[in-house]
Amino acid sequence: MTLAGKVAIVTGGGDGLGRAEALALAAAGADVVVGDVNESDVVAEIEELGSKAVFVKGDVSERDTADALTRAAIDLGGLHILVNNAGVLRDRMLFSMSDEEWDLVVKVHLRGHFLLSRNAAAYWRTQAKANGPGYGRIVNTSSEAFLLGSEGQPNYAAAKAGITALTLTSARSLAKYGVRANAICPRARTRMTARVFGDAPTGPDPLAPEHVGRFVAFLASPEADAINGQVFVVHGDTVMLMAAPTVE
Ligand code: ADP
Repeated sequence: MTLAGKVAIVTGGGDGLGRAEALALAAAGADVVVGDVNESDVVAEIEELGSKAVFVKGDVSERDTADALTRAAIDLGGLHILVNNAGVLRDRMLFSMSDEEWDLVVKVHLRGHFLLSRNAAAYWRTQAKANGPGYGRIVNTSSEAFLLGSEGQPNYAAAKAGITALTLTSARSLAKYGVRANAICPRARTRMTARVFGDAPTGPDPLAPEHVGRFVAFLASPEADAINGQVFVVHGDTVMLMAAPTVE
């Protein structure tokens, strides 16, 4: 599997799953534009793997940040792979969730996915009109919460449902430009999941972020050409289990 000559954007790539995804893409040969609100040393690690890397600091749910990420990819040689991963949690039971908690989580997850998907779609459409169908891959970050619900996470579950629908719509509407769009429902041990679940088991065999990263690199690769509009549970086990947090 090689991603040599491909340029990827990974949002929320500074830490956790996004960082593992960015490193897996670089290990497969891609150059990577990393977006994150927080500073990160991931760029140095990507460069050690022999790939080019650019860090764009900012909130992915703001248009200026999404545009800066897109421009950075094009400056590196094009945009081939978009991995939407950035997210935040504001867990609260539905009856006491504030407007702000709702809006922030929906905005970062859903609007963040939208802004970059729109930019990528426009770029791939223009490329296809000039040169015929090209190469585009979108890997979005959903969650089984979109289907099962998640007590204490109405904002997150609703945002993930929106992301899943956006993924399926992207898959349908962009295939003619050479684009494949899929979503993952990951469960790995990261700081975010540790904050939510503590030491409680998160499933029979929670994955390391590196496992999820390798699967994302596969979906981003030419080998995954036949896979479009799919939602993958990447948990390390065969069942979808929700160990839902209950936050009053
Ligand atoms: P996980 O480890 O499960 O991926 P994290 O909270 O560690 O969860 O990762 C989410 C990543 O997204 C972090 O690197 C975080 O800094 C980043 N992030 C959070 N909100 C935004 C945002 N609005 N824009 C860009 N990146 C963000």
